[in-house]
Amino acid sequence: MIRQRVARQDRVKRQDGLSLGKGAMRILVVSTAVGPIGQGRGGGVEVTIGSLVGGLADRGHQLMVLAPEGSEPCGCPMGTVAGHLQPPWQQQPRDAPILQPPHGVLAAMWREAWALQGHHHVVLNLGYDWLPLWLGPCFTVPVLHLISMGSLSRAMDEAIADVASTHPGRLAFHSKSQMESFGIHQGVVVGNGFDLNTYRFVQEPEPLLGWVGRIAPEKGLGDAAAAAALLHMPLAVWGRVEDPAYKDRVMADHPNCDFHWQGFLPPLRLRQELGHCAALLMTPHWQEAFGNAVVEAMACGVPVVAYQRGGPQETIDHGLTGFLVEPGQVAHLAAMAEKACHLDRHRIRRRCRERFGMAPFAQRLEAWILAALCQDPPL
Ligand code: UDP
Repeated sequence: MIRQRVARQDRVKRQDGLSLGKGAMRILVVSTAVGPIGQGRGGGVEVTIGSLVGGLADRGHQLMVLAPEGSEPCGCPMGTVAGHLQPPWQQQPRDAPILQPPHGVLAAMWREAWALQGHHHVVLNLGYDWLPLWLGPCFTVPVLHLISMGSLSRAMDEAIADVASTHPGRLAFHSKSQMESFGIHQGVVVGNGFDLNTYRFVQEPEPLLGWVGRIAPEKGLGDAAAAAALLHMPLAVWGRVEDPAYKDRVMADHPNCDFHWQGFLPPLRLRQELGHCAALLMTPHWQEAFGNAVVEAMACGVPVVAYQRGGPQETIDHGLTGFLVEPGQVAHLAAMAEKACHLDRHRIRRRCRERFGMAPFAQRLEAWILAALCQDPPL
């Protein structure tokens, strides 16, 4: 199937001589405008971009990444762009208007993408922002969007619905439940993939629960703290403090929780540390699109207990790699965490390898991009 698509793409010649050759594509990836890669503001997107670039480059494609100034290298040529960071949608009310800060990096990155499009077959947007969704149809090459969060804002829902009605093949999601949060029932779900060799397996964990995420209300750290306090187990917390007042509230509300604050660790260091946890808790109060941390813990052999909503309900094999519990049921969360500590860590790691490698992720991305280019070749 993919070969047929490549053959069709071989016939797509551009006036500037850019053709798809033997299936190799030149892909311009535009990162999130909420923060430079490597600082944690972009959450899961910062890790996804590494797997996406690595996996597609391994398949012979040429990638270039545009990202805010101060970004760390991500394994391919990069262009960095100065400007004020974009406020994240998850910090705004559902009816918030579209914001565009003066000298905004979002507009500056897309101005640069416009200038560079002629050297690429496709532009791949990883930012959860209104501007690229609106601007995409004005480009001369197809602009595809890998949507990184679920439905949070009316303005974003409308922008995504517009693309879904005119160019449905240009959208992809990380999980089915994330896609369905936009009212879309048929579409491309690419999951996510990880460079699993970079995660350190630990057979004998410490008596420690783990929690990984941005410290912000939607990530629900408070529930994990309550469960850890019930079990009298310390809770190691890795992640950037996005909302300091929320962190203070969680500490005040859970005086019996023994927090081990680890701060934000660079991704490669986190992968060496996570394996020490007996179990990871994932307690989102929102529709988690995928929940990278779930899979990353499993890659280290760590069982995960998560609320049954959003991506984690599709990534956890209940009873094998962890347990799913009714959101908000903290006592049940604690009971399942205790039970999870007895799951077989080798089996968890093996199952993770079967499901979440970087290579199959890249294959799914490639199939999506080629199908979109076939439906809608570059001008
Ligand atoms: N992360 C990290 N260092 C930290 C804490 C988190 O590199 O100290 C990474 C983590 O590995 C994960 C990402 O940040 O890949 C968070 O992604 P997730 O999908 O779990 O949540 P999001 O922030 O996107 O809602």
